[in-house]
Amino acid sequence: MGKKSLEGKSASPGIAIGDAIWVDKDQDEIKRIEVSDTEAELGRLEMALAKSRKFMTVMSELGDSGVTQEAVEILKAQQLILEDESFLDSIKELIRQDRVNAEFAVYSNCERLKECFRKLENEYISERASDIEDVSNRLIEALSQGQKHPYRRLEGRIAIAHELTPSQVLSLKDEKVCGLVSIKGSVNSHASILARTMGIPALVGVKIEISDAQDGTNLVLDGNRGVLEINPTSEELRSVYVELREEKDRLERLHRQIGLETVTKKGQKIKLMANIGSLDDIDSVLANDAEGVGLFRSEFLFLGRQTAPSEEEQFEVYRNILTKLPQKDIVIRTVDIGTDKDVSFLDLKNEENPALGYRGIRLCLKEKELFKCQLRALFRAAVFGNLRILYPMISSINELDKIEIIVKEVISELEDIKQNYLVPKQGIMIETPSAALISDELASRVDFFSIGTNDLTQYTLAYDRQSAELEEQYEPRSKAVLRLIEETVRNAHEAEIKVSICGEMAADIELTHMFINMGVDELSVAPLMVLKLREYIRGM
Ligand code: PEP
Ligand code: MG
Repeated sequence: MGKKSLEGKSASPGIAIGDAIWVDKDQDEIKRIEVSDTEAELGRLEMALAKSRKFMTVMSELGDSGVTQEAVEILKAQQLILEDESFLDSIKELIRQDRVNAEFAVYSNCERLKECFRKLENEYISERASDIEDVSNRLIEALSQGQKHPYRRLEGRIAIAHELTPSQVLSLKDEKVCGLVSIKGSVNSHASILARTMGIPALVGVKIEISDAQDGTNLVLDGNRGVLEINPTSEELRSVYVELREEKDRLERLHRQIGLETVTKKGQKIKLMANIGSLDDIDSVLANDAEGVGLFRSEFLFLGRQTAPSEEEQFEVYRNILTKLPQKDIVIRTVDIGTDKDVSFLDLKNEENPALGYRGIRLCLKEKELFKCQLRALFRAAVFGNLRILYPMISSINELDKIEIIVKEVISELEDIKQNYLVPKQGIMIETPSAALISDELASRVDFFSIGTNDLTQYTLAYDRQSAELEEQYEPRSKAVLRLIEETVRNAHEAEIKVSICGEMAADIELTHMFINMGVDELSVAPLMVLKLREYIRGM
């Protein structure tokens, strides 16, 4: 694998230096390698067994010093598995008969046992299955000289995938990857938006193959220029470090904007808020001195799980946001599930046109209990700060009527149990052309508007925001979109309600002038964009 430079589209700015790690599902699987010397393979297995036994003995003898009794019991049960003749014999049998590498023999034996145990549907047995999985992983780790499997270490590495979903991005962030590269994908997808929100440099549309960069290959991901360098030379690395230093200087300069007012030279003020997707993003809201949260995409709490978060769990998250940012306005959007934000527990059907289908408020009005549970949690949390709630994907007055009925039901449920609550200000997303066109009528029914230009662009121009092929035609600056924004702002102000822009377009510095002239009250952008925008506005 030599040096190579690949182009991609910048989905999130910034530079990352790190080793490659492929995170597609099949990369987690152990490779099957045919071996000619089965005795040598059995020898490797014996060595791995000895190593694992030694590790477990040391760990279980630590019983008095920090390891809980429960953990010691688990380790003892796992030690018994490592001594179990039939467990070991079936692995050895696979090596001898199928002539495969020891890693693959351990792995396929474990998969076979897990399958047998799963069929038994017994809680005690299923715990034994996880012990077997644990022991097998430890053996594979010992065989591969410390390289973990399947819990491979991702921290500080650049994750590469064919395509990334929003829930994968969230879990890769938890694993502390430093960059994201995907072969497919669009810069307007939620996966890309999440990368920008969390400040992880990312590229999409990179034509990379595994032969270009296997796990462990040195990479430089330049999210500013849209380039991925594979095996960079030391000369190239030196210039990247110079760029990183310049970027640090730029950030330091921007930090001088902290604490300053967002106001033009002529004295026109605009509120700069942050878009976030999780409680973890609050640190970045504070570090970048955002004046509040203009959009909390609450659906990200619902992704990548087997069940929906309970009322209590949601209440804790919402209360936490409000108490961590006291005195600041916090806009929490009710769940906008659907299209690329799929949840496993709702069993959503595959649709012909998912973006035009069962999503946002349409889904909430049908999945009433899910919606009411979230509203109860929000109304209870509202007592702790300046909460506003925002309903996504509104396209008609009729939807507002239905929301009103549900809100009344929620209030009476909370009254019945004498729960402490507050009904926060309620606003709607203007992200469908129909909502923009009837924004005069809608404005008289709600407390505020937030313009979602990502969807407004997709629905106005009829260009799929997810499509990499149509990316050039997906143009938020088009006259049609700008007219709808202007009309929405005018109608909001005629009804004396505030209007913000929370789509990605809010961070487009070339449009800031126009938005301020239109009288937009708030712009809500990725936390890392706040200071840059403030610097620009103060210089206007
Ligand atoms: C939008 O559509 O502009 C928006 C902010 O919502 P999302 O990107 O989550 O669809
Ligand atoms: Mg939207």
